[in-house]
Amino acid sequence: MSLSGTTIRTRRGAPAARAIALLTAIAVGAAAGPSTIPARAQDAATRGLPVIRDAEIEQLLRDYAQPILRAAGLAKQNVRVVVLGDRSFNAFVMDGRHIFVNAGALFDAKTPNEIIGVFAHETGHLAGGHLQRLREQLASAQTASIIALMAGIGMAVAGARSGGSGNVGAAAIMAPQAAIMRSLLAYVRTQEDQADHAGVKFLNATGQSPRGMVDLFKRLSNEVLFNSRYIDPYMQSHPMPADRVAALETLARSSPYWDRKDSPELQLRHDLMRAKLSGFLERPESVANRYPLGDHSLPARYARAISTYRHGDLRQALTQIDGLIQVEPNNPYFYELKGQALLEGGKPAEAVAPLRQAVALAHGTPLIEILLAQALNATNNPKLAEEAVGLLRTAISREPESPEAYSQLAMAYGRKGDLANADLSSAQAAFTRGDIKTARQLATRAKTRLPIGSPAWVRADDIVNVKTPNSNAGIQ
Ligand SMILES: [Zn+2]
Repeated sequence: MSLSGTTIRTRRGAPAARAIALLTAIAVGAAAGPSTIPARAQDAATRGLPVIRDAEIEQLLRDYAQPILRAAGLAKQNVRVVVLGDRSFNAFVMDGRHIFVNAGALFDAKTPNEIIGVFAHETGHLAGGHLQRLREQLASAQTASIIALMAGIGMAVAGARSGGSGNVGAAAIMAPQAAIMRSLLAYVRTQEDQADHAGVKFLNATGQSPRGMVDLFKRLSNEVLFNSRYIDPYMQSHPMPADRVAALETLARSSPYWDRKDSPELQLRHDLMRAKLSGFLERPESVANRYPLGDHSLPARYARAISTYRHGDLRQALTQIDGLIQVEPNNPYFYELKGQALLEGGKPAEAVAPLRQAVALAHGTPLIEILLAQALNATNNPKLAEEAVGLLRTAISREPESPEAYSQLAMAYGRKGDLANADLSSAQAAFTRGDIKTARQLATRAKTRLPIGSPAWVRADDIVNVKTPNSNAGIQ
């Protein structure tokens, strides 16, 4: 996946996300045995959580989530699905505005219905206001004891699943903490049951089957039974004892939509998403194993084309991508891929036409507009700078937290010789990256070049006078 910052970008996660990751890593480490603790904990602490940005995947996940959110009465809250570049299975909610899902979960889910089921369950947590209350519970405990608690939960959950009494974790920590832990465990368990119930209700309300949720949860809890060395973080935050899964299945089987399948069109988009993740995230050998040459399906060809451009020959990749375009000449993401391959292959002028096509077909997709602007800038042609400025301003109106868009905007203004706006855009890029010091310096310089009191001057002045770091930078 384009970790260096084109269509699929990664960014550092918010501090809160990192904290949860660290806690989860510790819990996983404790449950999986001493040998894995340092690697997992250190990983999460130092690496942060990369966010994957991709227009195609985000559109698909919006299509999965929107009906569920509407059924839950949350349509107006503008809840966004954020994909994290982590191979393990996980999905969680934290702040009422985002549903986080790991690339690993998308990759492991065989049908759209399985991910829709996960979203339905997570939306159950959102609608129940669970995270807020859990946070309140955690806030009353000291940091050290929270870590001990999380580690304890990990061990207790693992103990319970392997047929133990669940007291392994409790015995390892002091009695008062054990008492808190027991109440916290019971509390988490109650929330899980509530989220299951709410999830099935939302699925029924949207005429969708709850079967994917049941199948997936069964698969996950079986994996835990047979693989004690590694437990997905999802199992840590969503304890899944056998009786919970059984209760969910009984409820789900009573749904009038139990046997309803995803449409073939949706299944194809899902398979294309999984192929894309494979092509971008997996090594060429793994892609070749998963999608052997004899497999002529569109997803297999997509995965191979991406892998070829990532790791092999640009010309060969372009031939493969053109083959995809022949099959679906109105698929914006195939043109986007072609443009991205050309741009990263050092051919920005040739990338412009396919990216223009992608922008036209995708109807106002900021991530693709930013990519086209990047190609226009890279041509070094001042005549194209005006087009880049227009695209970026439109994109930023819908993606106001994108440092990449502001950096490209600064470049485009620079090409036009508009140094005042170039400085302001660079300041905004630094600001959205969370580099407040640089942002202030650039905004101060921009102010000297802008007409006093103009809208741009006011924006620069706001950055100069900003008091605290923008806590949202980097997570939008
Ligand atoms: Zn849950």
